[in-house]
Amino acid sequence: MGEDLEKLKQRLPLLDYLRQQNWVARTTGHGSEFVGLCPLHSETRPSFYVNARKNLFYCHGCGQGGDLLRFVQLSRHLSFRQSLAYLEQQSVPLTDPADVLERTATFYQQQLDGYPEALHYLKQRGLHDHTSIKEMQIGYAPGGSLRRHLTAQGYSCDLLQRLGLLNSQGHDAFYRRVVFPCCQGGRVINLYGRSIAAAFAHRFLPGSKGGLYGWEQVQQCPEVILVEGLFDYAVLRQAGFRHLTCSLGTHLNTYQFQQLCDRPRTVYLTFDVDANGSGQQASQQLAHCLRARGISTRRVLLPDGHDPNSFFVQGGDARQFQSLLEAAQP
Ligand SMILES: [Zn+2]
Repeated sequence: MGEDLEKLKQRLPLLDYLRQQNWVARTTGHGSEFVGLCPLHSETRPSFYVNARKNLFYCHGCGQGGDLLRFVQLSRHLSFRQSLAYLEQQSVPLTDPADVLERTATFYQQQLDGYPEALHYLKQRGLHDHTSIKEMQIGYAPGGSLRRHLTAQGYSCDLLQRLGLLNSQGHDAFYRRVVFPCCQGGRVINLYGRSIAAAFAHRFLPGSKGGLYGWEQVQQCPEVILVEGLFDYAVLRQAGFRHLTCSLGTHLNTYQFQQLCDRPRTVYLTFDVDANGSGQQASQQLAHCLRARGISTRRVLLPDGHDPNSFFVQGGDARQFQSLLEAAQP
């Protein structure tokens, strides 16, 4: 029975079950933690927390906590055995793409520590802090194991191909890639895969990249640092900078642009200073458009040939980057 229970919990994650029961939650900004009103007692301020990775809940209001089975026991007033029988009859809705992407992201996160080459790659790119890696939910796609993992949970190859997780031959699309989930409204809407080998360096899944990366954490900030790449974002975050967001490329989509303009703020544009000048050209154009909307801009000038990632990889530190921010000109 122990094994059945584990399989069941894998097939029906706590968060998915709660959402099926119309539980409304937001992310807390700490890894895969969600918070919302407690379904087990009456309250007006959210104190019910779910850790989606650990598959556990805890309510600071009524003090109840545990796993999916415990939740069913409490919410439906059933015994352990009755709850198990009840859950076995529950079918998982298999069509929400965000669910599949979330499971994929979780699976990749679980792989990361088992592949020294992936950790070595992250280190090479300046990312060594375990907490930052966990907080950003960075994972690793070794290739060749995702298909089995997801089809075992009932997802069809057809759906996985439509989402771009499998290629047209039915093989894992991400192969030897470090993977960053891109979230919006607390849900994974895309995955960015960065090859740890040289070929075909970047890749998103088909579909929208969504808004600015990490936007929900900085939306209220009067000053934000905008970078173009996720590794830039990651090293700055690791160095202690928190007012950060990332446009996932130099060209912002309409939604990302509107996000930056939704209230008065100062944007520190920190694009690459590359040899062909494309990063700085994009930065100038963006500054121009933002100023036309009443947003203050500062252009952070990194040393020639650098992006924030290479700046830190080659020995730059938080204090030096802070000086660059202070020296940034409108
Ligand atoms: Zn409660």
